[in-house]
Amino acid sequence: MDVKDITSLMQSPSAENIALVEKAYNFAADAHKEHKRMSGEPYLVHLVETAKSLAELGMGATTIAAGLLHDSVEDVGVKPETIEQEFGKEVRFLVEGVTKLGQFKYRGAERHSESLRKLLVATSKDARVLIIKLMDRLHNMHTLQHVPPEKRKRIALETIDIYAAIAHRLGMGVVRRELEDLAFEYAYPEEFSEAKKMLAARSKEIADRLEKMSSALQDELQKNGITDFTIDHRVKGLWSLWQKLKRKGGNIANVHDISALRVVVPDIAECYRVLGIVHKLWQPLPNKIKDYIAFQKPNGYQSLHTSVFSGDGDIVEIQIRTREMHREAQYGIAAHVLYKEHAADGKPATAPQKSNKQSSFDWIRSLIPGLRRDVKKDEEKKKEQIQPQTADERPRFGTPDTTKWLSELGEEMDDPDIETTLKTDVFSHHVFVFTPRGDVVDLPTDSSPIDFAYAIHSDIGNHIAGAKVNGKLVSLDTVLDNGDIVEIQTKKSAMPKTKWLDFARTTVARRHIRNALEREKKN
Ligand code: MN
Repeated sequence: MDVKDITSLMQSPSAENIALVEKAYNFAADAHKEHKRMSGEPYLVHLVETAKSLAELGMGATTIAAGLLHDSVEDVGVKPETIEQEFGKEVRFLVEGVTKLGQFKYRGAERHSESLRKLLVATSKDARVLIIKLMDRLHNMHTLQHVPPEKRKRIALETIDIYAAIAHRLGMGVVRRELEDLAFEYAYPEEFSEAKKMLAARSKEIADRLEKMSSALQDELQKNGITDFTIDHRVKGLWSLWQKLKRKGGNIANVHDISALRVVVPDIAECYRVLGIVHKLWQPLPNKIKDYIAFQKPNGYQSLHTSVFSGDGDIVEIQIRTREMHREAQYGIAAHVLYKEHAADGKPATAPQKSNKQSSFDWIRSLIPGLRRDVKKDEEKKKEQIQPQTADERPRFGTPDTTKWLSELGEEMDDPDIETTLKTDVFSHHVFVFTPRGDVVDLPTDSSPIDFAYAIHSDIGNHIAGAKVNGKLVSLDTVLDNGDIVEIQTKKSAMPKTKWLDFARTTVARRHIRNALEREKKN
């Protein structure tokens, strides 16, 4: 074990970056000198593995150093002041953040939502804290067999209920899957072996089919002049297969995405071309074509999905995306943190170029303080550039690009909801709020309990009688804050009111309110 195990994984580190990581490595080695893991291994192994995962995710030297030091306050009594003296404020902040997270007690499934809420709120200050904690948990899961049996189940359940759920919310697909599949065996041993058997029985057949389809698709793409692509395939993770099986009545024949082919191409136009070629090659299932490029998932996931008949009696999902989307699907928020740390090093970011369109991932960027400043500065700059002469000439919102884009939409400009869509979906950030049961709902900033109600269900929105935030009755124009627990009271006789449009922010809520008002007018 050597510090080079870590630094060799870093992406073009400067001499300073390497020096910082080396210093943290030596400090940790010394601080944990007498300290052993339950496996009997030196404790340093755990710290190095955590740091290696961080480096592999593309995190910068500051975060990697904090990863090496993450247990030094809690476990061997190093003072936070000492960490600040040796490594600076930022590393101290990260180490203390991880230490605090470790103090949340998991109180079992019925209370998991409370822990999840606290975790999200506590970490919304700086997502790097959460990323370190996830990598820490990942290594702990890899070594769970050394933990006393009576503790294993609790840790495994906590991993599925909290950490995998958070990895998912942060768009870190690879991490989520690894955590779930490592935890499954310990959390639900019987179900695990059943799922494993089921998949094993089909795995040879699945692999052969994917090979065949992959080479057929490769030929067809090349025939169509597409040469810059990669195709790989994946088999669904065991835990996610099991969850789907439960929803599909236990019949594996009804799970259509056990296996998937993934095609990665340079740009979006190429994605749609590939989709056409795929559908020429294999018959698609109706209603299974999903365009998550035009309509991205709330966690920022983008891809085209289609399910096709493989020609030998099975159905295979095909996912088509750009390299940038692929990276985001795997690493989510971590793909963005990279920007910040490289910028802080005064070096150009090596992350793939962003498209001009701002993605909904920007709400994730807003979780990282340094990035939030950058985004704001950009917005201010743009505003300055288009400072209008008189109030009448003032564009209604946004940047020159959106104004141009909108004028191309012509008369649709008159639809007030287009303005709202752009403001909420493109330009503003999100807040996390919670149902009394602890389900997370994310809404644009400045949302009201009305937006929350419609985000849950239109029937709830259409019959709002009152709202409680954190247990207190509030008026319906209350602006919701990160971490609020919102409870909606409904009454059958309650109806949407015109003035709700003054404080409903989301397109969904506004559309339902308008429709309800229209219906009322007609009656
Ligand atoms: Mn640890």
